[in-house]
Order: sequence, then C-alpha cells, then structure tokens
Amino acid sequence: MPSTSPLSIDQMIRHIQNWVECESPSHDPAALRTMADILLRDATALGLQTQTLSLGEETGPLLHFHNRRAGDDRPGIMLLAHYDTVHPVGTLERNPFRQEEDRLYGPGIYDMKAGTWLALTAMGSLSEPDSSALPIDFVIVPDEETGTFYSREHIEKFARNTRYVLVCEPARAEGGRCVTARKGTGHIYVTTHGRPAHAGVQHQKGRNAIQEMAHQVLALQAMTDYERGITVSVGLIKGGTTSNVVPEHCSVDVDFRIPDPEAEHVLREKVDQLKAVTPDVEVDVKFAVNRPPMPRTEATAALLKKAQAYAKEAGFTLEEAPMTGGGSDANFTAALGIPTLDGLGADGDGAHTLREHILVSTLPERLVFWQKMLKGLN
Ligand SMILES: [Zn+2]
Repeated sequence: MPSTSPLSIDQMIRHIQNWVECESPSHDPAALRTMADILLRDATALGLQTQTLSLGEETGPLLHFHNRRAGDDRPGIMLLAHYDTVHPVGTLERNPFRQEEDRLYGPGIYDMKAGTWLALTAMGSLSEPDSSALPIDFVIVPDEETGTFYSREHIEKFARNTRYVLVCEPARAEGGRCVTARKGTGHIYVTTHGRPAHAGVQHQKGRNAIQEMAHQVLALQAMTDYERGITVSVGLIKGGTTSNVVPEHCSVDVDFRIPDPEAEHVLREKVDQLKAVTPDVEVDVKFAVNRPPMPRTEATAALLKKAQAYAKEAGFTLEEAPMTGGGSDANFTAALGIPTLDGLGADGDGAHTLREHILVSTLPERLVFWQKMLKGLN
C-alpha cells in the first residue's frame, strides 16, 4: 500500500510558490542572496543545521544543510541541488506562478525548485534520525546553470566523504524517469587572426579572418559523430568591425558533448589537427572540458535498484532514462567514482522555457519516495 504524505496538496503548492516567486537567475547576486535567505529560513524551521559559504561578490552563497549528530563523520548521503534559474528577474510578470489543471507553472519550478523542496522537506521530516540511518548533507549551489565554476571544488570536497549522491534535478518528461548517465560537456574556442585592409582600396592586401573562420566552422561541425554520441555545435560567432574593413579577427565558441573519456581523446585529436587554410592567417584553438562524462557504473545500477524499490513502496514506477546530452553537477560526483543518481526531482516538462511546469498529482508520491529513501538507504 502506498504511504500517504504528511502535507496536503495545498500546503505543498504554497511552499513551492514561495520559492518560485523569489526569482533567482544565475547572474543576479542580490536575487540569489534573497533566495538563499529563504532556503536558510526554511531549513532552520525544519530543524536542520545550516552553514553558508561565501563564493564571492559575483554569485550567491553555497548552502550546506545537515542532520549529523556531533562527532558523526560517517560517509553518508549527499543531496545536491542548485537554486539559480535561467530566467531573468521580471519573467514572473509574464509567466506568473499558476495552476492549470494538473500543471503548476512558474520560472524555475521544474528546474529545479520543486525537486529541491521535495528533498529538503523529506530530509526535515526525519525528525530524529536513528543511529542506523545515514547522515545527510544537502549542498545547494547558486551557479549550476552557468557551469558551476564557483561551486565545483566544494561539491567535489563534500562528495569525497559520501556514500551516495542523490541529485534533485528534474525527472525526465514522459514518465518521470531518473538519470543514470550523462554526457560530458565542454567548449572549443577558436580565434582567427588575419590582416586588416580597406575593403575597397586594398582588398588584395587584406587577409580575411571571417573567411578563414568559415573553413574552421565547417571542419568543427563535421566532427559530430551521432553514432559515437559525440556532438559539436558552433554556437556563437563574432568577427569584424565594419563592412568596409577586411576583418582582422574572428572568434567562435563551440559546444561539445562526449559520452565517455575515450570520446574526449578522439575529439581532442581532431581538434589538435585544425590548421589555417588561408595563407598569412593564424588560427588559435583552445579545448576545455567543463563537466566530465557521468558513466553508468555497476554501483549506479545498484543504487537505482534501491531507489526503484522505494518508489514502488511510494506508489509509482521509477524508470531510467537513456543517457542524456545535458550535463549537471552529477557529472562531477560521478566522475569521482561516487554512486550518483540524478533526475530524482519533480515530474514535469519544459525546462529552460516559459512552458516549464510540474505535475501536481505526482507531488505526494514523490515526497513519500524521498522520505523512504533518505530513511532507508544504507
Ligand atoms: Zn537544473
């Protein structure tokens, strides 16, 4: 028999509304701090111990909530979430928090405030964790949507003393599936340096950096190998100053995704072979992995089995999504060899768009699922 959740649906909706109506885009430190204060207040009200770690003026603080008894330094469960969203302040005016039938809309609700709320509420409901339960450390970062450059080292430090990592990113649409494998992500930055000249008077003396980049763009795009799971996408291009000057500089920012470390080597070798096609033009190339691939290991599969059993007790079937091309902070902890399960947050759809929503009817079972898992996992 599925267990029932301790909160009414209306109470859940009000809590989630409070969080969604505090807009918290990654690039707005003041907004992030306001959101962090709400999280701290709510965690304290749930009886959790809280710590904040400043990451500087450019972003919000990293939050750490835990239920460890004094002296208990056993490796436990690490919960991982982010409180930044991709939506700038003001989005709420155009896209207010609202319910339409089973859907609850609002900026950041699906990615990932509702999922964070579920996990935090479940953690807080374990009022007196008996000594057999694993201690829980909940780490919530302000910069996931922009690459986790401030928080990464701290996430990795926490993860090293952890038995399992559970990530509250949204459950995949079409059945609320969880995530056991993610591609690695990175950037290739290419700059071409030509020679400027008057485009009308001395055309033949110029060396056109944009023309050269056109060759590089086609070569980069051709590195995509769908069968191997490698994608390369030139996403941003800048070049030239005005149309009557032969452009001296051009640069591109290229997104790539790799399914495993071998694919990184394959791609890196191809990128190393990029060279100028146009005489007298220089080409600079930088290759940078941001998030390493998150492989599906045997330990991950074992953790998935346990999670599936808790989901069943809570009244729903937890399926596994195929490897996704989207990275998350799960990539960092999985790459350290810590069994990591992701996509355990709210069920819904439309991440990073104004259609972003969660499914109200799934909230009670998801909350019970989190409670059972945090209590039982060992
Ligand atoms: Zn997210």
